[in-house]
Amino acid sequence: MSETTALAPETLCNHIAPILLSDDNYPLSMPIYQSVKFSVKNFDELKKIFRGERAGYFYTRHGNPTVHQLEMLLAQLQGTEAGWATATGVAAITGTLLSLLKSGDRLIYFIESYRPSRVFAEHTLKNLGIKLSRLSMRDHEGIKAALALPDAKVILFESMSNPQLQAPPLDLIVTEARRHGVCTILDNTFAGFQGFQDAPVDLYIHSLTKFASGHGDVMGGIVLGDRKHIEHISETMVHLGATLDPHAAYLILRGMKTYHLRRRQQVANAQELALWLQRHPKVEAVQYPGLHEHPQHATFASRYQDFGSMLLVTLKNKKVSLEQIVTEGRLFKLAASLGSTESLITPALFFFGGDLSESERVAAGLDGSAIRLSIGIEDVADLKADLKQLLARVPD
Ligand code: PLP
Repeated sequence: MSETTALAPETLCNHIAPILLSDDNYPLSMPIYQSVKFSVKNFDELKKIFRGERAGYFYTRHGNPTVHQLEMLLAQLQGTEAGWATATGVAAITGTLLSLLKSGDRLIYFIESYRPSRVFAEHTLKNLGIKLSRLSMRDHEGIKAALALPDAKVILFESMSNPQLQAPPLDLIVTEARRHGVCTILDNTFAGFQGFQDAPVDLYIHSLTKFASGHGDVMGGIVLGDRKHIEHISETMVHLGATLDPHAAYLILRGMKTYHLRRRQQVANAQELALWLQRHPKVEAVQYPGLHEHPQHATFASRYQDFGSMLLVTLKNKKVSLEQIVTEGRLFKLAASLGSTESLITPALFFFGGDLSESERVAAGLDGSAIRLSIGIEDVADLKADLKQLLARVPD
């Protein structure tokens, strides 16, 4: 058909000419490349894209410009070479583990870690013949011994344990893992986009559902590391298929514009509420890394950019039924997740300790009176008033 032949409206609507911008003309807001397919004019160029010999896109499960822009931004913030974004934070964890482990390998992980990571290890990975070492972060000798096992391949840990808000023994893990060639994966969701240059880990994982997107309206995840690791992981990720949608990537990129502002306000609110809660007569203890009483306050102060926006509060009344109380917040809503602009409340044992034995619960510092708070950007006086009325419901 000649280029000049008029097209019928039905055809025209499906073959709209793309608007290509010149090099010196670009949008200040990243456009959403909401397209599954990308074409090229010449087959040789297509082959080069397939072989990774030139930049370009072909199919969004393999790569998309909007998603790629998010990957580049987050790699830069985290101080790594590359990243691979996924549909959720859990997809980043599970896809990374599946790409690095095979039958007979050993994964080391912790009772203080995010529960779905533990559940994935103990159900899926175990069934695939992967061996598991489940330890406490406080068990330094156990960590050393597990890392020295000849089948040890990967250690997964978090920059702040959930919900205890303890720092891992980073130097010990990184040094011993290096010595034995074990890959270190740090789930950095709670600490945000800050690196640990003096103790570099191999891979960082983030749930972008939390602080990155920040508004509780989109899910995403990412694994960040050097190019070699990310290329290897992406081969599995492409086939697992939990790709981040371009529209979700756009929303997360938009969220990132206010990430630092939001986080500063969240941390300031959390610090003030932690100090106030600590003095409340019905409160037994507050775990917040910004409090001098926190056993690892000095570690957080010297190594972390901030103290985060999560609090773990235990009450003096150990017979309290939290179920009657956590639904009564005017502002603090009972909901999963964290890191959004609004404050949230959860009974910690129910949400985070269900798969732990009694002794593991004690080791993890979780009892029936433990409440996890995620602090938002609201006015701190309003948040205090809400916590005051909630605590007034706790019997003496
Ligand atoms: N890692 C941590 C520490 C988390 O708290 C969460 C979610 O709460 C995830 C990973 C999983 O993220 P997503 O809910 O985006 O799958």
